[in-house]
Amino acid sequence: MIDRPRHTLRLTDASPPTADLVIVGGGIVGAATAFFAARAGLDAVLLEKRPALATLTTPVSTGAFRLQFDNPEEIALVREGVELFERFADVADLPGYDIGLQRQGYLFCTTSELGMRRQHEWVQAQRTWGLDDVEVLSGDEVRYRFPHIGPRVLQARYRGADGWLKPRALALGYAIASGATVCVDSPAIGFERQGDRVVGVRTPRGTIACREVVLAAGPFSEQVAAMAGLKISLRPTRRQKLVIPDLPQVPQDAPMTIHEESVAHWRPALRGAYALWTDPDAPPMDPLDAVPPDPSFAFELLDPASPRALAQVSPFWADVAASGGPDWILQAGQYEYTPDHKPYLGPSAVPGLHLNCGYSGHGIMASAGGSRLVVDLITGRADPATNPFRPDRPLTERPLDIL
Ligand SMILES: Cc1cc2nc3c(=O)[nH]c(=O)nc-3n(C[C@H](O)[C@H](O)[C@H](O)COP(=O)(O)OP(=O)(O)OC[C@H]3O[C@@H](n4cnc5c(N)ncnc54)[C@H](O)[C@@H]3O)c2cc1C
Repeated sequence: MIDRPRHTLRLTDASPPTADLVIVGGGIVGAATAFFAARAGLDAVLLEKRPALATLTTPVSTGAFRLQFDNPEEIALVREGVELFERFADVADLPGYDIGLQRQGYLFCTTSELGMRRQHEWVQAQRTWGLDDVEVLSGDEVRYRFPHIGPRVLQARYRGADGWLKPRALALGYAIASGATVCVDSPAIGFERQGDRVVGVRTPRGTIACREVVLAAGPFSEQVAAMAGLKISLRPTRRQKLVIPDLPQVPQDAPMTIHEESVAHWRPALRGAYALWTDPDAPPMDPLDAVPPDPSFAFELLDPASPRALAQVSPFWADVAASGGPDWILQAGQYEYTPDHKPYLGPSAVPGLHLNCGYSGHGIMASAGGSRLVVDLITGRADPATNPFRPDRPLTERPLDIL
């Protein structure tokens, strides 16, 4: 039994000589992998190249989760995580640990007739997949329940049990609860092979011999896979988040409020809001350790005349602009898109190397379901034949999900 103070990481400066499992990448997905590895009785080492865990993509995220997906596989993947988030402190045995869970719902608003039809079709399909608590609200119903919604909204689909959490708190909670050995400032720089099989991970501090490796390097996963001679398709793409603290006009009890047509959306945060939009034309780029933000992203959201204006759905944003605009901070990170925008989960073509990456913008909400599945595939508790996210599935291009 390890005698460790509660709520602390098991950090080491040394390179452990052996492990059952080495996890490359200490973002939320690597940390979740460590969490489920510990529950499966595996001795895991979590390798992170930066000086601290969960400091690349994970903290840039909005931390939101929803079951409103367009396919049953991702609904199931996220549902599993939400069940864990609800009971995280108990399941992780971290009494009092707070991941900042807020279930204030996701409200997708439409301002077009076409959007209204699509919403009905979408919700109908979700019901056939067992997701039966998404409501379709008329414009007047939306405004009655959510007074911040303006007159242009014709209809909305709403699920009150969706919400958000603090992504870094969850990531660190996974890592702490795992009891895994955590090595920061420790990039994986190569792999040891025995024949085809990966049997160790090289770091500047030494080589860790291991039975299995999980690749969870977020936008860098394609590069790290290439070090093992494995080719995977990932398209890191810039995504930005506007942080607007302390803005009294923002109703703090509002749901995630999304305009389907412009993809502009916001949610309450920091006594103000996080605001975003997804640029469908953003080109793929190399993975970056520092993603440069572009201020035009902020102006497009805040200018009431812009086609991306938040004010189209929530008119109080026009009042905010009229009074000179809010103080804001812009953050940028990368979605790592796969061709079908679903993650790669499970064994790769290189024996001993397992993928847990390609979350395509959903790595907070899907971190638990995805990582549990990857670990269960390693231990033989999950059947590879029924894994819809297996990395060797036929990859068909899929239209961009709006968030
Ligand atoms: C603006 C924005 C908003 C988002 N909003 C949401 C949201 O609301 N909900 C949601 O579910 N998702 C959201 N996402 C997506 C989510 O943030 C990611 O899917 C998630 O953080 C991916 O986690 P990760 O651990 O795979 O990657 P990361 O957090 O990037 O972690 C990967 C880690 O691997 C490390 N690494 C790389 N190479 C090596 C190496 N050779 N050796 C060791 N370590 C290495 C990196 O330093 C990094 O720390 C958003 C993303 C962005 C950019």
